[in-house]
Amino acid sequence: MIVIIFGPQGSGKGTQAELIAQKTGMLAFSMGDALRHEVHQKTAIGMQVESIMVKGELVPPQITNDILSKVVNSPAAEKGIIIDGYPRNQEQLEFYSKNFHTDYAFELDLSEEESIKRISTRRVCPKCSHNYNIVSLTPKVEGKCDMCQVDLEQREDDKPAEVKRRLEIYNKNTLPMKEYYEKLGVLHIIDSSGSIEEVNNKIMDVLKGVLKN
Ligand code: AMP
Repeated sequence: MIVIIFGPQGSGKGTQAELIAQKTGMLAFSMGDALRHEVHQKTAIGMQVESIMVKGELVPPQITNDILSKVVNSPAAEKGIIIDGYPRNQEQLEFYSKNFHTDYAFELDLSEEESIKRISTRRVCPKCSHNYNIVSLTPKVEGKCDMCQVDLEQREDDKPAEVKRRLEIYNKNTLPMKEYYEKLGVLHIIDSSGSIEEVNNKIMDVLKGVLKN
């Protein structure tokens, strides 16, 4: 079972992917988190992509295609996978559609204004990648990750100029791909302006057949 989740920055893809994973037993996978992990670990891939990611630009497709293939075919994805952040442009979609199928695609719809507002207040744990928001999803102890107790950070690419570039890329390259999902008959457009719980209820209404028993 493959679930694709896409939407503009700040629409809650990562948070919703984690909630779906908890309720269904599927694996939540974020391409952005996987790449940030490579950067933190200073791997060869990490060194190659760091400067690209800081600017909010897309990393070369052979890197993301390779990461994606490994995770989809891994034992961790045995019960299914929720993919956030891939495919992100036509080139990736071509690779993806040749090699994998899609059972459900959720577009988390959010206005640009709201997207920028949410991103400016987002904070992330550098260790486990869990997202927080200093207004709507606060940690138990101010500025610290609930799980790792390390200081939360603002992502370099969550600064205003980089967010603007990422939104432009999303509107130009990623959003048009919804036609592909529409033709497959798997597209569900979810208004993500509500609370985390409200958005999740709408998604789980669609996915009720795959709930963990
Ligand atoms: P995200 O966490 O989804 O906002 O992604 C953060 C950054 O990781 C993006 O701005 C890109 O630099 C890189 N990235 C994530 N997913 C992809 C992808 N599918 N293709 C290319 N670059 C990506």
